[in-house]
Amino acid sequence: MVTSIENPTYDFPPYKSLDNGVLTERIQAVRAQLGPELMILGHHYQQDEVIALSDLRGDSYQLSQMAASSTDCRQIVFCGVHFMAETADILANRPEKLAERGGERIPVVLPDLAAGCSMADMAGIEQVEAAWDDLGDVIDTDDITPVTYINSAASLKAFCGRHGGIVCTSSNAAAVLEWAFARTKRVLFFPDQHLGRNTSLKMGMTNEQMPVWDPHDEDLGGNTEQALTDSKVILWKGHCSVHQMFRPEHVDQFRSKFPGIKVLVHPECPQEVNDLADLSGSTGYIIKEVQAAEPGTKWAIGTELHLVNRLKAEHPEQEIHFLSPVVCMCATMYRINLAHLCWSLENLAAGTPVNVIEVDPETAEWSLVALERMLQVK
Ligand code: SF4
Repeated sequence: MVTSIENPTYDFPPYKSLDNGVLTERIQAVRAQLGPELMILGHHYQQDEVIALSDLRGDSYQLSQMAASSTDCRQIVFCGVHFMAETADILANRPEKLAERGGERIPVVLPDLAAGCSMADMAGIEQVEAAWDDLGDVIDTDDITPVTYINSAASLKAFCGRHGGIVCTSSNAAAVLEWAFARTKRVLFFPDQHLGRNTSLKMGMTNEQMPVWDPHDEDLGGNTEQALTDSKVILWKGHCSVHQMFRPEHVDQFRSKFPGIKVLVHPECPQEVNDLADLSGSTGYIIKEVQAAEPGTKWAIGTELHLVNRLKAEHPEQEIHFLSPVVCMCATMYRINLAHLCWSLENLAAGTPVNVIEVDPETAEWSLVALERMLQVK
C-alpha cells in the first residue's frame, strides 16, 4: 500500500525548470537544516549528481539496513525504486525500532512515485497466489519453499513469510536455497528466473530440474505435471529488463577485440551470458572485484550503466568497458533526479511530506518474518 500524503504546496513544474546548480544548493540547505535526522540513500544505479548528494551509497538491502540501524535518523529519502522504499519502511519501522523511539514512525520518501521496477511488476501477488493454488493440485505445497528475490513487492515478501518462505539477495541466493532445501524438496523462486537459474546451476542442479512458470499460461504455468513433479526449483517467468539486454555475442566481441579481458556480470543476466563470463556476482561483488584488481586489468562489465560508468571514473588505473553496444540503464531509477529530490526534501523540511511509502501493518509483519529468516542464513 502506498500512502501519498496530500501536500498543499505541491507545485512540481517550477522545480523542473531549475538548473542543477540551484537544485544542489537548495538540497544542501535542507540537508544542513535537518542534519543527521535526515538520511538520503542512493542506490548504486542512480545518476552521479544524486549519488553525490546521498549520505549512503549501496544496494537496496545494505541501504535499508544501514538507515534502520542509525540512531539519529528520523527521516529517510530513498533514491531508488518502490520496492526498496518499502523494505526501508519495514526495517526502519519494525516493532522494536518503534518501541525504541516511543512509537515515532520514520517516514520513507520515494522522490518520484513512478520509480518502479519492471522485474518486480512481473510477479503480482494475485498471480503468485494463483500459482500456489495450481501447484497444490499436483504437488504438496508443504514441500515447497517460496523464495522471493528482494527485488519484489512487499506483498510477495509477506507471502513468503506466511508460507514458511524467505527473501534472498543476489549475494546470498545460494545460501538461501540451501536453507530452503534443508526444509523442503522444492523451491518456488520469483520474480527473477535468471538469478534463480544461475544460482541453482552453480549448485549442481540442471535445467531439466527447473521448469519455468509462466503466470500468463493458465495451464499449470505452461508445464506438464511430470515436469513439476520432477522439479527442484520452479522458476518464475520474470527478468530484469536491464540485465536481459546483455548477450553472449557481446562477450565474444570483447574477447576477440581485447585478448585477456575479464568478463564480469550480474547473475540477473541470462544463463548464456553467465556461462561465458569469467566472474558473476552481486553489485557488491562486482565493486569489490574491481577495487581489488591489479592496475591495468581489462574488464567488460555487464550490469547497469551508471554503476559501470562510475567504476570507470573511480578506477582510472584500470580499463573498464560496458559489456553492451546498447545503453542498458534502469529507466525507472533514472526518474529520480535533482528536481524530484529537491521537491521531496523541501516538503519534508516544511512538514508536508510527499510520496511517503508506508507498507500496511499486516504486510509489514509477514514481510519482516521472511526478511528475518534471511538474516539468520549464514
Ligand atoms: S535494474 Fe532491473 S531489477 Fe533493478 S530496479 Fe531496474 S528493472 Fe528493477
